[in-house]
Amino acid sequence: MLSTKFYGYVERSTHIASIARSIKLLPELLISQIAAGEVVERPASVVKELVENALDAGATALHITLEQGGVKRITVTDNGYGIAADQLPLALKRHATSKTRSLAELEAVATLGFRGEALASIASVARLCMTSRTGDAPHATRIDAQTDALAPAAGEIGTTVDMYELYFNIPARRKFLKSEQTELGYCLNVIRCCALARPDVAFSVLHNGRMVEHWNVIESSASARIAQILGEAFATAHLRFEKQASSLSIDGYAGLPTISRSRADQQYCFVNGRFVRDKLLTHAMRAAYEDVLHGNRYPAYVLFVELPPETVDVNVHPSKIEVRFRDARAIHSFVCNTVQDALARYAGSGIQLKTTEGGHTARVISTHTSHSLQQARLMRQGTLPIAQQLAKYDALFGRPDQATATPSAKTEPAVVSPAPSCELRQDTVPYCAPPPAPAPTSSDVTIDDYPLGFAIGQLHGIYLLAQNAHGLIIVDMHAAHERIVYEQFKQALMHRAVAVQSLLLPVSMPVDPVEMGIAHEHRDTLNALGFDLTPLSPTTLAIRTVPALLKDADLPTLARAVLADLHAYGGSRILTERQHELLSTLACHHAVRANRGLALDEINALLRQMETTERANQCNHGRPTWYQLTLADLDRLFMRGQ
Ligand code: ADP
Ligand code: MG
Repeated sequence: MLSTKFYGYVERSTHIASIARSIKLLPELLISQIAAGEVVERPASVVKELVENALDAGATALHITLEQGGVKRITVTDNGYGIAADQLPLALKRHATSKTRSLAELEAVATLGFRGEALASIASVARLCMTSRTGDAPHATRIDAQTDALAPAAGEIGTTVDMYELYFNIPARRKFLKSEQTELGYCLNVIRCCALARPDVAFSVLHNGRMVEHWNVIESSASARIAQILGEAFATAHLRFEKQASSLSIDGYAGLPTISRSRADQQYCFVNGRFVRDKLLTHAMRAAYEDVLHGNRYPAYVLFVELPPETVDVNVHPSKIEVRFRDARAIHSFVCNTVQDALARYAGSGIQLKTTEGGHTARVISTHTSHSLQQARLMRQGTLPIAQQLAKYDALFGRPDQATATPSAKTEPAVVSPAPSCELRQDTVPYCAPPPAPAPTSSDVTIDDYPLGFAIGQLHGIYLLAQNAHGLIIVDMHAAHERIVYEQFKQALMHRAVAVQSLLLPVSMPVDPVEMGIAHEHRDTLNALGFDLTPLSPTTLAIRTVPALLKDADLPTLARAVLADLHAYGGSRILTERQHELLSTLACHHAVRANRGLALDEINALLRQMETTERANQCNHGRPTWYQLTLADLDRLFMRGQ
């Protein structure tokens, strides 16, 4: 054993000694090939560089031809301003560029290219020819990168770069390439990114002689291009956002949580028109969606950030795909807040605030038609055959004079009110339902005031049915409740005001040593959440208090889930950074399960809560919580009036 080790040592040191040679400059070609290793990783990198060059040259139409996933051949033809014949040899040299001349220019670079490296790098790892013609040239000129030979050629104004046999001279590199389809996929991704940023440019892509993509210019409209590239689902389910503050502006399209994806494959960030993969921006977007989407779902979005070029460094990575912001934190919060606002506004957009004569705010469905408005006028609360007596709502939601009255057991909405036995900590205010809005008097209440309408009943223990001014409302009971509980917990945690329920008889639960350790280590966090878990023995915890809202949950299972969250996300972080994970664990343990029968009063209470809960349109997994079938929809279904 010893001798083998010793032998190995001798072998290596001999080897090292044998390569100790004199120092020499690397040949120019090898320098290029080493540099190319960073710039030309795969066919898609070539496509990216060539398309960027064409866009920098002011092209308005690009034709891209690929063969065998781009490994065999990549041709990009543009109608840009071209390269003068005498400049062609220079364009192929390393560090030769028309785009930057000085450090000052580099620091404020507005073109996609600036290093003068791409063509030289590509030419060092593949065969390359370039044909170009400027506006004032009588004909095009072609250069062969291998020989630098120039020859007159046929061609319109613009440039065609023709690359073939990628890595013909570096077989080891070729082995790292993936299948034809995969490489084609990478190429198309790159083209998509460029095309998203430039709706004013037409793109067509051929692969193995077949047209695979064609995006024409529709009035240079970004949204038309986005619909072409991200598809129908995104086109019909996104929010537009836009915000400007001094020299920083952002705009974009945020996919609704309902079209979230299982992979982060529809996330496009652009900085000054350049597609970037930037952790800061991705994180800001992720954070913006935190309340409406989490777990393993990924939002789809397109984000454009515009800021003075000198405040962002694009010269960070050879592939120019990373950037560094001078004021990263400000940009993060600007992006996050803007998108978060848009999403929160959307969540309330189906239900919009309106002030009634009595001065109290109610919410109305914003998508009403004149037909349904008329219906609304006709259908006063009192005339609804299924409507509950308004007096009941006074009891449920408290008229100002009744707000302090103890709700009767019969009308108390099981899902919102603290149990009369709720023991509140001295330093906390009762958490549970947000303070009820003063209920209007019966005379000025219309169905308009209750946009989600009044309960009709429950369907298969899963859906709730309600009638509102416009027709039928269908609610996913579990999803809606989960969202409400989530928002309530969030408010309570934010104000550190979680109401606590002491258990008359502590519930004991067997735990493993890790759980015992977490309970001990994170006692303060657990207390802040309303849990008192006291060790009874080395393997048993006693649950003495729980958050009042969760008193009906399966307590050992709940406690175990919270301990698991604390373990996974860290006790100190869970109240700040990873709050949504904890909140959804809590919400999920409380939300009404399918198959639980709800009385009409309870359903109405839930509807009222949805109307006053932010982001109530989606559960925290991004699914919709309710759906409106208007009378017009139903008429269509039954072909009435046709
Ligand atoms: P960079 O884009 O960083 O300047 P490249 O190696 O990609 O470096 O290109 C070198 C130069 O060749 C560019 O600066 C530009 O002047 C010229 N060039 C390359 N492609 C085109 C094109 N499609 N149309 C016009 N000029 C081009
Ligand atoms: Mg370039």
